[in-house]
Amino acid sequence: MTSPTLAPRKNACEVDTRLVHAGRDPSAFGGLVNIPICRGSTILSTSLEEWIERKQPGNPMASYGRFGTATTRAFEAAISELEGGRAAIVYPSGLAACTNALLCLTRPGDHVLITDSVYGPTRQFAERVLTRMGIEIEFFDPLIGGEIRHLMRPRTRVIFLESPGSMTFEVQDVSAIAHEARLRDAFVVMDNTWASPIFFKPLQHGADISIQAATKYIVGHSDALLGVATANARAWDLLREGAHDFGQTAGPDDINLALRGLRSLAIRLRQHHHNGLRLAEALASHRGVARVLHPGLATDPGHALWKRDFSGASGLFGLVLKPLSHAQKSCFFSRLELFGIGLSWGGYESLALPVDTPPRKLRKFHPEESIVRIHAGLENVDDLIEDITHALDHVLAI
Ligand SMILES: *Cc1c(COP(=O)(O)O)cnc(C)c1O
Repeated sequence: MTSPTLAPRKNACEVDTRLVHAGRDPSAFGGLVNIPICRGSTILSTSLEEWIERKQPGNPMASYGRFGTATTRAFEAAISELEGGRAAIVYPSGLAACTNALLCLTRPGDHVLITDSVYGPTRQFAERVLTRMGIEIEFFDPLIGGEIRHLMRPRTRVIFLESPGSMTFEVQDVSAIAHEARLRDAFVVMDNTWASPIFFKPLQHGADISIQAATKYIVGHSDALLGVATANARAWDLLREGAHDFGQTAGPDDINLALRGLRSLAIRLRQHHHNGLRLAEALASHRGVARVLHPGLATDPGHALWKRDFSGASGLFGLVLKPLSHAQKSCFFSRLELFGIGLSWGGYESLALPVDTPPRKLRKFHPEESIVRIHAGLENVDDLIEDITHALDHVLAI
């Protein structure tokens, strides 16, 4: 199979069109519309010459299944095209993509700056593993912007961003931070799961690596775990070598689910955007709600940056409820009929998750506040509004 990218004419197409065509190559598979699920470990060569040929670095069809099959390549090519990168590499989970991106860039003695609003397990990895390897980590205020220059040291190697932040949804000034990083030769890695490459493109804003927990919107149906990282030319060799050194690989069946999800990503996200925003607006005026954390709301502190940089919002946002007793909280969750209580998000279904006070070194969350993380799924939004409103009304009446 040749490299499954689009013919030049189609590069000008809108993203909906590109999602339908990216990574596909019917002519390589007897006309089949979809890339088959190619399983395999051993890849046979018929001659010494072919064997030597396969082992050449950069050969897209490598010599062993751990480096991926046609299914892997198709997905990586499609994501890289969407993110506008040099190339992408797939991982068995979103967290694996985050940890590998950090590991491939750092050495003992380095200093790594991480947003204080980072995804919890990424934070834990930095605190437990990076420090054990002699890497100094420092969390910074997600709203720091260009002032990050004051935290930079000669050995600052990586700045790790996530915007909007996990659980608290602060929007970061990615270009201002990336500008400072570039002046000092540091790498910028961004966890871009919330926006997906449809609504934000980190590499265009100066990041070197963009990460997707494909488990979320790309797979889109809550039935597989997968991560993918896309690098620019500057970071690509380090990212690829790191993944190979650690033996990172993902199964073709899960990748196939991600390829399937990709085809409807744009249309699903449009609905998640609409439902999330409508729900956030409706709940913002409810008397049981202290605040809604959604950068798409004009009143949100991150709104101006979000409007400048993002072309849409996902369905994930935070609801800060006015102080409630444990019995009231419990009643709220059991009254919800359309929202399941559970981890992860990005599937077609709505979720409500009780959030423990997020660990923050800077800008602490008030402990009385109970945060509920909402994922607006693809249900009818009026039904979703009614479901939460009824549950809140009921709780306030007891
Ligand atoms: C879920 C998530 C991850 C981790 O993805 P998994 O596939 O569950 O490992 C990483 N970053 C963010 C922002 C996430 O929401």
